[in-house]
Amino acid sequence: MSPVLEVQDLHVTFAGRVGLGAGLLGRRGAEARAVDGVDLTVGEREVVALAGESGCGKTTLARTIMGLERPRAGRILFEGRPIGRNGLRAYRRNVQMVFQDPAGALNPRQTVYESVAEGLRVHGLHQDEEGRVAQALASAGLRPPERFFLLYPHELSGGQRQRVVIAGALVLEPKMIVADEPVSMLDASVRGEILSLLLRLRDELGLALLIVTHDLGLAWTVADRVAVMYLGKIVEVGPAEEVLTRPLHPYTRALLEVVPERGGDLAGRRVLAGEPPDPTRIPPGCRFHPRCPEVAEGRAAALGQEHRCLGEVPALREIAPGHFAACHLA
Ligand code: SF4
Repeated sequence: MSPVLEVQDLHVTFAGRVGLGAGLLGRRGAEARAVDGVDLTVGEREVVALAGESGCGKTTLARTIMGLERPRAGRILFEGRPIGRNGLRAYRRNVQMVFQDPAGALNPRQTVYESVAEGLRVHGLHQDEEGRVAQALASAGLRPPERFFLLYPHELSGGQRQRVVIAGALVLEPKMIVADEPVSMLDASVRGEILSLLLRLRDELGLALLIVTHDLGLAWTVADRVAVMYLGKIVEVGPAEEVLTRPLHPYTRALLEVVPERGGDLAGRRVLAGEPPDPTRIPPGCRFHPRCPEVAEGRAAALGQEHRCLGEVPALREIAPGHFAACHLA
């Protein structure tokens, strides 16, 4: 599978800010390493879930991929070519973002037609505007599309609003969609429908999808591969089935303890004891060690690895075919 998107050793830092995005709190004046050396690929027609708690840097990574944040170092390649100022406009047409909150993403004073047509106008695509808007709405499951043209966001359900947002992305005929928590603000009853829609778009339009989520249960439902992020780094990545049934990293195991399918609920709560992640104070050695059950419960010491956990940064190593983990015990 040839990669559509490649992220290489990406670093994003914020200096002297307190609020850094969903749950990402840093100390005033200290540099926050929100994304701290990330490599990630998304292949053609591939669905990759980027998972982790609030504040792990996943939304910052997604926003940087979209060109909404500037990386301090590293590269982002689209179809093998680095994105830079020159190709940014074409890139932004090819890679579209769907945000978490459909109500916030839509202008309440714009009709559905205006909202979906906006991207075409921004990119100077004036030919057959009405046909393109109708096609995008139909692809997003709003049929017959003409019935929705003159409606305003407040006249739609939450699920319909998210479909309009998705139509606004589809109208530009992108090759990839980055979806940031695309169903977390929707009623449980429509979450499955929106996830099915995204998968259908992958199958029918050949889209690649990067889905940012705090919910490993969702990743389980939709993803081909899962990347788990902790404090700015990917700590485990591999085929979804492998990562979710045979997790190698203690952090992934902790996240899996609370997926709803296993009787827990990760939404809005910390999954582990200890200090919440603070990107201005990244611990030495393995950054997960202050919260790691393997250290706290003595297994790392019993295996003679505790000194490495506390002092040596674990590399992301391939432990099984295509399955990588950054843990001295893996
Ligand atoms: Fe835990 Fe050590 Fe593995 Fe880090 S390297 S996750 S501290 S066992």
